[in-house]
Parts: sequence; C-alpha cells; structure tokens
Amino acid sequence: MASLLVLWDVDQTLIWARGVGATIYQVAFRELFNRELPIVRISMAGRTDRAIALDLLTASGISEPREHVDAFQAIQAAHAASMAPQIIARGQVLPGVPEALAAVARGRPGLRVVQSVLTGNVRAMSDVKLHSLGLAESLDLESGAYGTESEIRADLVPIAQRNAKARYGEDFSGAATVLIGDTPLDVAAARMAGARAVAVATGAFTLEDLAEAGADAVLPDLGDADQVRAAIFGEPEHQFPGNGPHTP
Ligand SMILES: [Mg+2]
Repeated sequence: MASLLVLWDVDQTLIWARGVGATIYQVAFRELFNRELPIVRISMAGRTDRAIALDLLTASGISEPREHVDAFQAIQAAHAASMAPQIIARGQVLPGVPEALAAVARGRPGLRVVQSVLTGNVRAMSDVKLHSLGLAESLDLESGAYGTESEIRADLVPIAQRNAKARYGEDFSGAATVLIGDTPLDVAAARMAGARAVAVATGAFTLEDLAEAGADAVLPDLGDADQVRAAIFGEPEHQFPGNGPHTP
C-alpha cells in the first residue's frame, strides 16, 4: 500500500495562539541573561524558533549568540507547559481544522496516511499548543520535525521523513510527503524537498502571495474538508475514466 506523510504547520495553519507563545522568548532571555529582552523587531512567520532565537540574541547585543541558542531553547522548552492555561484561555483552533484532519486521516483506497507536524516551534511548545487545543490525538507527533533542529525550515522535511520512516518502515521521500502551511517559507521548504506544497491563507499572506511562492494548491482556509482532501491528495475526488478534470 502506498503511504503519504502529511505534515501540518502549527501556528496560523492549525491554530492561532494569539501571541501567547511569544512571551516565552522574554522568559528565556530574562532567565539566561538576568535582564529584560530589549524591544527588537524580528520576523517570525514561517521561521524556526532556532532562527528567531539567534536573531533575538544578535539584536540584543549578545556576543557569540550561537553559543547560547541551545540553552535558550532548553529554557523555552522547560517553561512551555506553564503556558497551557493561557493557550486554553486565549488560543483557538482555526475553522474546519478538526474536520479536515479527520477527512485526511481517512486516506484513499490503497493509500495510507500518516499525519504529523512540521513546525518552527520547539517540540515542547508545539506539544502544549496541540494538547491544550485538543488536536494532539489526531496527529502522530513522533513523526514530526520541530524548530530546535535547524535555523532553516527546509532542513526539517528530511528529519520528519526519517522519523516517520523509523516508525512505519516506509519511504516518505519526495512526493510521498505533503506540507501544509501559511507562509512562503512553508512552500519553499516543501519545494526544496520535492514534496507537495499546500498553502492556506489563514496567516499574514494572501492567496496570491502563496501561489506566487509556488504552492501546488492554495486554499483560503481549511473550512471545506473535501477541498482540503483534494489539495493534499493532489487530484479531484470522484474521478472516473473519461470524466477527468479537463472534461467540461
Ligand atoms: Mg505558520
């Protein structure tokens, strides 16, 4: 049976945490350097926590920032669970997500689907968001890849593919993987790995931005489970011989 690895981005794709996760950078900085994190503008959308941490440390004037990244991320991870009450109170699952996950989990005849995440979040932060908002059960979190692993999002794709292979014994390379995310960096990560890229305009980017980035399919949101299935599986549903997509 063919297998497909479906890797969901977390923030702005599955959920919106209303910035709750961002306070953890301040906590980690204070604990590590005994002072407040200066106000700096760092681009975050689609980037990994490792890249964001490096930028923050550099912009805050920390010398040899690379030497502090592991410690910084370890503190973020240690504090992640304490964010659960705020995430439960303020965070939300984006519209249609539970239905979309269930619809994709059904797979297709002859196709087994493994669903996990590919996120810039450190693992503990991703876990607390997904558990707090009730999505963890729908995903095999061990098959995912997280923002502690690299500064470059595209590096996370082969990591997730290896993790999934170790668990299921299947080869998920190339087009046997699909990424779904809300930023051009999600799309770029998929394309660099030869994976399929599905983009959803529930973050800061428009349908046009995401199409221009090279997504194979672009959705306004995840509200239509049939559309999500078609985008992820890469062909229309209910296709019969002689009645393909080009038939008027
Ligand atoms: Mg995102």
